[in-house]
Formats: sequence, C-alpha cells, structure tokens
Amino acid sequence: MRDPTAFLGQEYRQLVESQLDWRLRVLEGPSTPWCEIDGKRVLMFCSNNYLGLSNHPKLKEAARRAIDTHGVGSGSVRPIAGTMDLHVELERRLAAFKHAEASLVYQSGFATNSGLIPQLVGEGDLVVSDELNHGSIIDGVRLSRAERAVYKHTDVADLERVLASAEEHAPAYRRILLITDGVFSMDGDIAPLDRISAAAAKHGAMVYVDDAHGEGVLGPHGRGIVSHFNLGRDRVHVEMGTFSKAFGVVGGHISGSTDLIRFAYNKSRTWLLSGSHPPPVAAACLAAIDVLESEPEHVERLWNHTRRFKQEMGDLGFNTGHSETPITPVIVGESGVAQRLSARLFELGVFALPIVFPMVAKDKARIRTIMNAALTDDDVGRAIAAFETAGRELGLV
Ligand SMILES: *Cc1c(COP(=O)(O)O)cnc(C)c1O
Repeated sequence: MRDPTAFLGQEYRQLVESQLDWRLRVLEGPSTPWCEIDGKRVLMFCSNNYLGLSNHPKLKEAARRAIDTHGVGSGSVRPIAGTMDLHVELERRLAAFKHAEASLVYQSGFATNSGLIPQLVGEGDLVVSDELNHGSIIDGVRLSRAERAVYKHTDVADLERVLASAEEHAPAYRRILLITDGVFSMDGDIAPLDRISAAAAKHGAMVYVDDAHGEGVLGPHGRGIVSHFNLGRDRVHVEMGTFSKAFGVVGGHISGSTDLIRFAYNKSRTWLLSGSHPPPVAAACLAAIDVLESEPEHVERLWNHTRRFKQEMGDLGFNTGHSETPITPVIVGESGVAQRLSARLFELGVFALPIVFPMVAKDKARIRTIMNAALTDDDVGRAIAAFETAGRELGLV
C-alpha cells in the first residue's frame, strides 16, 4: 500500500539537496552578546534583541515577581477569563508610550497581522502592499478576500500609480488599505512613511505600518517609525509592532484610535481564540516599556555601534547595501560564498547567519548582521577584525 506520508521525507530531502533546509543552531544559555552556541563561545551578531533587554535585570525581576503574584499561565483566552490586570496595564502603558489613544496586545506579531488584516479588508476591497512586505502580512492578506496590488519596494511614484489606477476601478473599491513594513528586515532600509502616508491620504486609503524592526530603534526613546517621522494619527491608522524584537520578550501589538482597538479585539480571530500572555510575559513587556522610557542610553549605544560598524566595514571594502538602521547586510553575491563566510566567521567567534535565495535574490546572498546595544566597543572591534580576516581569505576585500 502507498504510504500517504511519503511526501514528507521526499520534500525534506529536496530541501537538503538544494541547501534550503534549516539547520538549527542551539543557544546554550541566554541571548547575550557573548553566548554559547553549539558548545562554542561566540559574539551574537544576528539576534533581534537589539537593546539586550531579553536579559535585562529589570525584565527578569518583573517576570519572577509576576509568577509569584499571578502564576505561570492566564488560564484562558482574553475575551473569556484570560484578561488580567497585567494585560490591561500593559495596554495602557503601551498606548502612553506610543502617544496613541489606545493599544491592544496580541500573542505575537504574526497573530496580529494574520488576525487583523482579514478583518480590515474583505471582498470588494483592495490591499496595496510593498513588494518586500513580511510573510505575516502576506498571509494576513491571503486570509482576507481582498484584491492585492503590489508596488515596487519603497517606490512612492509607483505607489502613486497603483493608487491612481485603483481609483479608476469599476465598481469602486469599498476600502483601500495601504500596508508596509516600517524597516525592511533583509536590507535594513526605512519605508518613506511620510511620503507614503501623504499619497494614501490623497486617495483616501487607510495606512497600516508593521514596525517590528523600527521599535526600540527609531525615534526618541525608540518609540518607532511614526514618532521618527512625527506623523499624526490621522496619517497612520494602524501602528503595529512586536514585543519579540527590541522589547526582548514576545507578543504583537497595535496602537491607534479607540475605535480601532475596540474593532480589533471584537473581530480578530487570533486574539479571540488563542490563549493570552502568561503573567511573566506581560510583566516583562511592561518592564521593557519602563526601560525604554527611563534608560535612553541603550538606543544611543545601539546607534553609536551601528554607525561605527557601517563606517569601518565600508572602509574595508565590504558592500553593506543601503541600510539606514542597525540591520547591516554584508552582501557577497553567491549563496555558497555567503555560507562559507558565515562558517568562517563562526570559527573566528562571530555568529551571523547567511541569507540566501529565496529569501533574497540569487545574486544578492549576504550575511545579515544585526547590531546590539549590549556589545562593548571592544566586541564590535573584534567582530570587524573577524570580518576582515574572513573577507581577505575569501577574496571579498
Ligand atoms: C518579526 C516580524 C513579525 C512577526 O513578529 P512576531 O511577534 O515575532 O510574531 C512581523 N512583521 C515583521 C516585519 C517582522 O519582522
């Protein structure tokens, strides 16, 4: 008899043959600048924990305390019996941090995009999307029954063209939702949200920004891209983000008007049907907001390291693309070269993974580095020296 699961092994072997399978590296201890990976002590150069908050004493203490006062689980989904005072307080503090009327916390950023987007738009609507938007946005759009129009990456003229032709559409679209990443995770460039939101306003479109990589990085105190461009809430209607990156914990969120938040929690299926944050998670997220408000030095150090790294890598002759943020790609071309560079860096004590096709174009394979505020000046110097050594050996510089 035919084995109905035969495809599982076959497809996996195909991935291995084309070197597209994931081989998991195991962190033996916390995600700190110096960490143990597969038994080797290395400098972490690819975590999203930009500010080192995942191991910050205030967050750890808040989590421990919440376990004592509230236990380890919330016991339910938010709408039934899983809303604790900690969740309410977290949303109140997040809204204040974001200078928004209200905020809502989801289980993850992925759950936010895949739960909310299909409620904002449906049949007879149009989603206008940057071609490099995150996979969770793409899945959210697929779950809706809206049509989709893609514009060239961060290209406002092309966006204008798409919006103008949407206006001609017959029958007229009921709603238009413009959606973009704030900071693009593969290249580290920033969406020109000031011009994007102006174009959207001209055509009456809603604006949704996914600021997963901008929070804790852009704007005063790391408030994010909306604050970075100083845009009003009439210009950006849904500011979405995550606690899993610079905030150092886990969880997705949105900020905007009270109407948006009430709509979102009554309709998002991911929010309604999946368990809420355990108390230590909610408490650690709250402490992360405290730290961002009271310790601006982390964001400052992140940017100082970032400027130095880009400058010195450029001076050495590396191609670091057009990044404007602490995500700095080191573009090497062929995927095999990126894999060899990453392996050599690991031997030299630097952990940074190669990003290859299909995540980026075939000839744009790269090592993606992400700067971290918790690194010392000496650590950054060592990493640059390791890149220089490995780059020379591979004939890249
Ligand atoms: C990481 C990321 C997400 C997903 O966030 P999680 O909270 O980790 O699920 C969504 N959008 C973008 C742009 C991201 O980079």
